[in-house]
Amino acid sequence: MSFTAGHGSRGTLFLFLLLALATAGCGGSEPATEAGPPKARVETCRDLILLLDHAVLEHDGPGKSEARIEERLVSMGGPERAAIFAHPVSEISYTLAIHPGARLEFLIGMHPDCWETATDGATFEVLVRTTLGSETLFSRHLDPVHRPKHQEWKRCEVDLQQFAGTTREIVLRTGPGPADDPAFDWALWGEPRLISEGRRVPAETSARPHVILISLDTLRLDHLDASGHQRLTTPHLNRLLEESLFFTNAHAPSHWTMPSHMSVFTSLPPDIHQVFQIDGTARLAEGIPTLAGQLRKAGYLTAGFASCGFIKGDLGFDRGFDRYFLRYNNARRQNRLIRDWAWSNRDRDQFIFLHYFDAHSDHLKLPYTAPHGFEDLWSDLESEEIFGGCSPDGELCASSYLTQLNTDNVQLKLAERQAIGVMYDRGIRQLDYSLAKLVAWLKAQGLWDSSLVVLFSDHGEEFQEHGKMLHQQLYNELIAVPLIIKLPGGNHGGRRIDTPVEAIDVAPTILSLLELPVPEIMQGRSLAPLIGEGAATPDKDPLIFSWARNSSSITQGEWKLVTGTFGGREALFNLSTDPGERHNLIRRENHIARQLHQLLKEQRHRNRAIADRMSASGPAPTDGFSDEERKKLELLGYVE
Ligand SMILES: [Zn+2]
Repeated sequence: MSFTAGHGSRGTLFLFLLLALATAGCGGSEPATEAGPPKARVETCRDLILLLDHAVLEHDGPGKSEARIEERLVSMGGPERAAIFAHPVSEISYTLAIHPGARLEFLIGMHPDCWETATDGATFEVLVRTTLGSETLFSRHLDPVHRPKHQEWKRCEVDLQQFAGTTREIVLRTGPGPADDPAFDWALWGEPRLISEGRRVPAETSARPHVILISLDTLRLDHLDASGHQRLTTPHLNRLLEESLFFTNAHAPSHWTMPSHMSVFTSLPPDIHQVFQIDGTARLAEGIPTLAGQLRKAGYLTAGFASCGFIKGDLGFDRGFDRYFLRYNNARRQNRLIRDWAWSNRDRDQFIFLHYFDAHSDHLKLPYTAPHGFEDLWSDLESEEIFGGCSPDGELCASSYLTQLNTDNVQLKLAERQAIGVMYDRGIRQLDYSLAKLVAWLKAQGLWDSSLVVLFSDHGEEFQEHGKMLHQQLYNELIAVPLIIKLPGGNHGGRRIDTPVEAIDVAPTILSLLELPVPEIMQGRSLAPLIGEGAATPDKDPLIFSWARNSSSITQGEWKLVTGTFGGREALFNLSTDPGERHNLIRRENHIARQLHQLLKEQRHRNRAIADRMSASGPAPTDGFSDEERKKLELLGYVE
């Protein structure tokens, strides 16, 4: 982000104060509900908050040392709005290609904290700037102290059709009120968006789409807004779903990061690839093909961006990647890395694996902390007062505390568990926001529309629904995960597919969609036929397996058998009548349990035979994690 202070106003520019108010205006206060989808198609909506990193920010005038231009979430009585806080005098300049039918939509408002102050209001202007000068397309003064009607968001629109086909610098300028005093002029630009008409890139224009595989670590399916969760955790993902296929019945192969990711990379269940040693002492056996390796063979430039040691390259996660980076980054820094890489290699066919760790519990402070701007979300629940994130004696906090609860079998009160759920949801909302920023950037660079994008989660998270915190078991709060596929051109966008699928299906699906060979050893099935992109129709009622060290599960249709639970015994659940897996029906439905038990046993034997065939010696030993790495991972709540 470039921030230039003290330049003064752009005196060298010749200013045309041509007020084009015939094509600009505000339609009064904000609507009572969340803004609906944009009128134009979703791929033509550019969110200017998400592009703030790419804008030129200038600030001038008195008080500039304290003044800021930054993102905020602000409510003026109604729902929270994403906004840019821009203290006058300031300019936010975007260089944007203007497409046919373009219009700028935005809200303007003054922060409620200044309604009782001595502010004289602020002036909001939208300018279009060329080398010849500027043209003012919109100008409005808000004065919430003297005009109570200004104590709300004003929805505004500027028509940019006259600039269609050109690239223009669009400026959001904030000036002081009539007294020329910027004190307390806490101005807000809410939800600024550039909307234009269809500019969808047809799939056939790109012979070889870029492939972007995104891991949303620890994202539980039923905490998505699109799954009907009670809090709005994923507003941006909702938009992404409009141009994607949403697999609503996808399953993780394991309950934790290392084996699940390796299963996605190899299309092998954990007991075949055998990379699940928590001390990092096993490396993927030589000769096992990976998704990245297949794409690299096909000429793709392959790069991976991991943000947790459990998927470090030494364990075989780097197999097939030209470059594999491990940085303990948050999503914001991950985005920066990936942007630099994607942009500098934009002329190549790219496969990018991107790992976001932000929904995972934090090891330093409260679990599931959210960065600035999200920490107050849903704060009416007063979650921190109910649960502060630490043990009552203050000795253990965050993941360490939750791990201790598991070890000591301590059950939290319902209100405490709900409070932790709120913190988790804030992390998801933040992740959703960071993901949206990346998508916005990829769209702006023309790297999105024709790309094949797959989003998955490696496992969910449990809040003592079955007695444990974090991710320990094979119940659906852990293994029901989102799987989202955006095809080039957004084909089949908005479809939901309820057929049961598995994360090991990801690699064969990507390879089939690209019409590349799928190695015989890969155990997943291509989902292309389900999407309507392949001939054969896959089994509608497949067997679904998940694996843990001392536990395994098999699901077929409405029935699920979990082994190694209830003190080592098996448990049978009917997912149709008991989706929460509360009632063990093993006695009543013993014949079903026996059938599933037999199928599970046969699968285990089959997997073992494949594992033996692939590598007589099993996975290659490694030195394991360094002391420093081990300490970091233990702090995240992983203990032997
Ligand atoms: Zn994970």
